[in-house]
Amino acid sequence: MTTLSDHLHQVRERIAAACARHGRDPAGVRLLAVSKTFPPEAVREVHAAGQAAFGENYVQEGIAKIDALADLRADLEWHCIGPLQSNKTRAVAAQFDWVHSLDRVKIAERLSEQRPAHLPPLQVCLQVNVDGGDNKSGVAAQDALALARAVAQLPRLRLRGLMAIPEPAIDFVAQYALFMRVRAVFDEIRADGIALDTLSLGMSADLEAAIAAGSTMVRVGTSIFGGRPAAQA
Ligand SMILES: *Cc1c(COP(=O)(O)O)cnc(C)c1O
Repeated sequence: MTTLSDHLHQVRERIAAACARHGRDPAGVRLLAVSKTFPPEAVREVHAAGQAAFGENYVQEGIAKIDALADLRADLEWHCIGPLQSNKTRAVAAQFDWVHSLDRVKIAERLSEQRPAHLPPLQVCLQVNVDGGDNKSGVAAQDALALARAVAQLPRLRLRGLMAIPEPAIDFVAQYALFMRVRAVFDEIRADGIALDTLSLGMSADLEAAIAAGSTMVRVGTSIFGGRPAAQA
């Protein structure tokens, strides 16, 4: 029987191996443990094994977990990585430390207005859609710079970088090419003078290709917590 702690260490080894292969310092790649669909006790176990940053897709579920783990709140960093509707922004602004899925200026303005004064600015990434799929979340690559300029002006948000969830590709080379499209947008925004430091790319199946492309934060669910029911995957 392997434990969640074993899984966490295996993922850390994969990150270290990918960094070694691509000449990167492992300290430059953070691990976000994606705990969606798993109970608070599983988060507690992974935290006890040394993990502090956790990602949730569904706002309601995330907040229930944050509440259930209130005793650990000061030790944990909660990242909202799922689609955001305007009726959920107040709760997200009050409860989470990061949002990775920002793709509209209206949502950004609400989050900035609603971020409670006693908390530090909400750390945000823009979600970029590099597949061009119509009904997928994310700002189109050609509109990302304009959105970044607008978000960078908002007083209670701190723009950190970009996030993307490209469709699974057939192999490493194809996945790397998709991640490099996000990297190009990242470089374009930095060249404009906006100081991004976070490239949130890579999941259980493709974190090696993401690290090759310059990811600074991999979001890993399955390889740590195990498989999810298909309906919620
Ligand atoms: C579920 C999810 C992940 C984790 O995916 P795994 O394949 O389970 O590692 C990462 N990012 C986002 C946005 C997700 O929704």
